[in-house]
Amino acid sequence: EADLSLLEQGEGDGVDSGAKGPLPVLAVIGRPNVGKSTLVNRILGRREAVVQDVPGVTRDRVGYAADWAGRNFTLVDTGGWERDVKGLASRVADQAEIAIELADAVLFVVDATVGPTDTDSYVVNLLRRANKPTILVANKVDDQRGEADAAMLWSLGLGEPFVVSALHGRGAGDLLDAAMALLPEVSAVGTRIPEGGPRRVALIGRPNVGKSSLLNAITRTDRVVVDSVAGTTRDPVDELVTMGDRAWWFVDTAGIRRRVHQTSGADFYASLRTQGALEKAEVAVVLVDASTPMTEQDIRVVQQVIDAGRALVIAYNKWDLMDEDRRPFLEREIEQQLVQVQWAPRVNFSAKTRWHVDRLTRALDTALASWDTRIPTGRLNAFLGELTAAHPHPVRGGKQPRILFATQASTRPPRFVVFASGFLDPAYRRFIERRLRETFGFEGTPIEISVRVRE
Ligand code: GDP
Ligand code: GDP
Repeated sequence: EADLSLLEQGEGDGVDSGAKGPLPVLAVIGRPNVGKSTLVNRILGRREAVVQDVPGVTRDRVGYAADWAGRNFTLVDTGGWERDVKGLASRVADQAEIAIELADAVLFVVDATVGPTDTDSYVVNLLRRANKPTILVANKVDDQRGEADAAMLWSLGLGEPFVVSALHGRGAGDLLDAAMALLPEVSAVGTRIPEGGPRRVALIGRPNVGKSSLLNAITRTDRVVVDSVAGTTRDPVDELVTMGDRAWWFVDTAGIRRRVHQTSGADFYASLRTQGALEKAEVAVVLVDASTPMTEQDIRVVQQVIDAGRALVIAYNKWDLMDEDRRPFLEREIEQQLVQVQWAPRVNFSAKTRWHVDRLTRALDTALASWDTRIPTGRLNAFLGELTAAHPHPVRGGKQPRILFATQASTRPPRFVVFASGFLDPAYRRFIERRLRETFGFEGTPIEISVRVRE
């Protein structure tokens, strides 16, 4: 089996999981035979060819620790696909799509001796949509004569092609210099949230559930001197508070304190505010008024958190108003309306009396730890191997889709890419998710599973 483990940031040498955050990722993409592997070997400073003896999917993407001009980065090689399979163009596109998604910058390699092809144009479209910094690499320009061929590649619309010969090394240094200029210091893949420093919390929920009361309850006694927390840039609409003897950023508290009332469009603005807060936050506390029946709007807010891929805590406020008669109704509401988020930790509290407000910290810690969780590729595939052996996918139209392998593409939240030999039933996907949660926890975080189909 191929070694995909290096693709996981935080594993393998040179892949820094230290305080600065994950290393930036440079992906090399392009059609088969354009010279991607040759270029990768050139960048890694190796002579030997990447071994091509493992057929098919297991060679799809491999990450290597690389460095240039004193900078470390992860180099992702998408070379090594089988050359003569049918549906090749779509497979190239598939691969390119994943690689682009997971990269901070892209080297798009085209064979200058062949010129632009339809597949190349297709990949250009993917690149445009993803809006990732890209260098167009015109490879196999072994000498001056090849430069005229390379000029044809302007038509791809990616600007001036970078002329190289991966085989002989011509232009490789300049190419790497240009690539380094495009790479950020720390990988931004999958998140725009700053790492390190106090964790970032969004207090959200429909009007009148008690957001500002909770904020007051938390901040009334404890105020943090902003200067005492290093390495954080302060957004004036955010607030630094202490809970459980630690500092936390509560984001967009200005929006909580500035109340939008029953004007027309208030719902719309409330939902926009929620969206804005979620973008900046790592974890959301969705407040629900425990004393009144749950509403559509409550459910919508929960859904917004899941869609934003943030960790989630559900907090039932106004517990002081809860009378025992309502209790069974509340339990039923939770069962009926919140089944899809059974994984979220729940806290019952009262912002007014401050009863159990301190319990938020533990729920937040749990949800954030899950949000950060990474399952090593080996463990993930061992788990899936056992699961699918015991519970194979049902046969569909005479065929039985098989799971070939899986990898966790990111954390914050955990995202998995499952490669399968056919489409997986939604019910089977949910089954996998359920078992993933049973086995690995993930309390308080949404998880994403995307399936890539291989012939
Ligand atoms: P990949 O499928 O994109 O990874 O392509 P490979 O790196 O395996 O290269 C395909 C073929 O092109 C091999 O025979 C390489 O030796 C050859 N090749 C790669 N780069 C160059 C180059 O710069 N010049 C020439 N002439 N051939 C090259
Ligand atoms: P927001 O719109 O979500 O910020 O909600 P507020 O914090 O302004 O609270 C709305 C109303 O609910 C106010 O009248 C609060 O006093 C009241 N309230 C908030 N929390 C509690 C609580 O725990 N118990 C009770 N009894 N009332 C509360």
